Amino acid sequence: MAYKKIVMEPDKKIALVAHDHKKRDLVEWAKFNRDLLAHHKVYATGTTGLLLEKELKFPITKLQSGPLGGDQQIGAKIVEGEIDFLIFFWDPLEPQPHDPDVKALLRMAVVWNIPIACDRASADFIISSPLMDKPYTRLVPDYDTYRNRPIPVAETAPAAGKKT
Ligand code: PGA
Repeated sequence: MAYKKIVMEPDKKIALVAHDHKKRDLVEWAKFNRDLLAHHKVYATGTTGLLLEKELKFPITKLQSGPLGGDQQIGAKIVEGEIDFLIFFWDPLEPQPHDPDVKALLRMAVVWNIPIACDRASADFIISSPLMDKPYTRLVPDYDTYRNRPIPVAETAPAAGKKT
């Protein structure tokens, strides 16, 4: 398969999201790693962002609350190359009203090959990676083959009144 290259700069654009029962975990994790996070550009869904901003004391770009469309906004930003990193502590024990959005967000992260951490251990490994503070070339499948795939198109209907 052919790939395209997308360069991630040393200062990454990181999205942080946590479901309600995981917010405490994320805030603790972010406080512990505050200095490592501080020079990156941080985005968050609405409520997560408010809590983080209060604790971290640096500006965070806050989007809508997740169930009100925040997850979809992050997904759209991944597609547009505005976010290149996702830390998403989703709750495996609670049904969410916006489950389809959660699934869509995780799917977009994989479509565009961005790093995702869904729990604290993964987030610890990722934040301490030497790649965090270096440029990194991300390989994204060349979707032109998909875009140019043959589509069966219905034959044009004969004009009314015209004999065939
Ligand atoms: P919230 O959204 O940060 O606004 O609570 C998180 C989510 O449920 O996706």
